[in-house]
Amino acid sequence: MARNKNKRKKNPSKSGKNRTALLDHKKVGSELQPGFAQLGDKLTFSSWSNERLPEMLWAAIIRVVQNQDFVISEFRRVISYVSEHSNKDKLSDLSITGISKLDEELRKEFLVFLLSNPITASALTVLKLFKDLPARESWLKFLPSTEPDLNILMAAVGMCLPHQSQEATDCRWLKLMLMVVAGKFHAPREMVEPWFNYPYEGDQRSIRPSIRSCEMAFNPMVEQDLTWSNNFWNESWESTPCLELVTESNDKSEESCCGIEEIKKLRQELEKHWKKTHSTTGIDAKHDGVFGIAFYALSTLAEISSIGVNTGILARLGLRTILEMHINLKYLTLKDDLQLWSKWRTYGAGQAKLNALKFDELVEAPKFINTDTLESIAGEDLWEEFINIELGSWSGADLRKLSDKAGLKSSYDQYYSWSSTYSHGTWGAIREVCFNTCGNPLHRLHRYPKESVLSDTLHDACILVNEILNDLSQAYPSFNARLLEENNKGGSEELETLIKAQIV
Ligand SMILES: [Zn+2]
Repeated sequence: MARNKNKRKKNPSKSGKNRTALLDHKKVGSELQPGFAQLGDKLTFSSWSNERLPEMLWAAIIRVVQNQDFVISEFRRVISYVSEHSNKDKLSDLSITGISKLDEELRKEFLVFLLSNPITASALTVLKLFKDLPARESWLKFLPSTEPDLNILMAAVGMCLPHQSQEATDCRWLKLMLMVVAGKFHAPREMVEPWFNYPYEGDQRSIRPSIRSCEMAFNPMVEQDLTWSNNFWNESWESTPCLELVTESNDKSEESCCGIEEIKKLRQELEKHWKKTHSTTGIDAKHDGVFGIAFYALSTLAEISSIGVNTGILARLGLRTILEMHINLKYLTLKDDLQLWSKWRTYGAGQAKLNALKFDELVEAPKFINTDTLESIAGEDLWEEFINIELGSWSGADLRKLSDKAGLKSSYDQYYSWSSTYSHGTWGAIREVCFNTCGNPLHRLHRYPKESVLSDTLHDACILVNEILNDLSQAYPSFNARLLEENNKGGSEELETLIKAQIV
């Protein structure tokens, strides 16, 4: 634990978000659980935005029509009304549902009082839009005849949806204070006192969280009637349109960092180097392996660099493949053991044999597979009767372990696991590619289908291919051509000048 703490201090998260650090998750079976989830079912959250915000909708609407000073004075007016009322114990819950449950006389009296401020009354006319508003008849009787303004409603819900926003905190303060002055909330005096001067006196950094946690803590004890909050979200969904969330444009129309011509040129250089270093027509598992990996990586890169592919799903699969080859090659060049190269190659031949046998005996080969090719790969080095079929990985270790052994664990963490979600088609990737967030706050930031252009993979792919070429050059010196050379020229010239300057 102490080690984790130190590590966290040294490496604070870049986003600065207050959340459970990866290292503080607890491993339970095959899951990593954050602190809250470790509590299991013991804690059920009552959600401010889903359930309680619709109940405090009238306060949220008042919250956005004027500045905070107006709002606080308007909220204080309501708090004083309750605290001075002879029936104050009945007025502790002034939620939309709570108001509807007041005796008719008391409800009428409160609504007349609340709507006596013309600014408040005019803003609240938007409540008329809801057919299922509890005690709608009473509201309609006292609301003015001005046209409802849907923008006010959207702003109110949008500003109050994040449960810690200033707007939400003000509404939650009002709700809490009504319970305090009505005598329904009991807490130590030193805790409650600062709430009376909110938000003008005292250290707001501690007062605001104390308001929010008490407002939240009070709720699980009350049997919740969710009819109105459910109706509110349903009616909002049915009667208002989805809005496209316009984010800052990220189509910087960047020029491609590496073109197909550059890749072709590099491939030609590599073929020349292959010829120079090729010494035997016998089986050379290492030479075939090192160059084969580099050629395969270049072919994958050439496909990725096609317009439209570089920002798509398949490019991510390609990137993952290049990384996997990079880790294998690094491991093999570090070990520098001809028998290991042979094992790596035989594994591939075994895979060809396994598939050839399946298509020969069990199932039809699909159109894209040429069984003759599989047969010949299976048998070209050794008579196939001598080839064992390895059902696990070629090295006996999974890629994660192999990356650790090869000193590439950080590359694995950088490139492998997220790109795997595209390969497996799991929710994270599906969410990113196929859905957009709706910009209508009345729709609670739901997702709607929209095809997205993903960010470009080409630069990352070039970096990994360069790593492969570094290992190739080490195994068969020396091969100096690299990708992204043009982009780096400025930097290396600067470095050269710097080195020269130091020498002088
Ligand atoms: Zn929507």
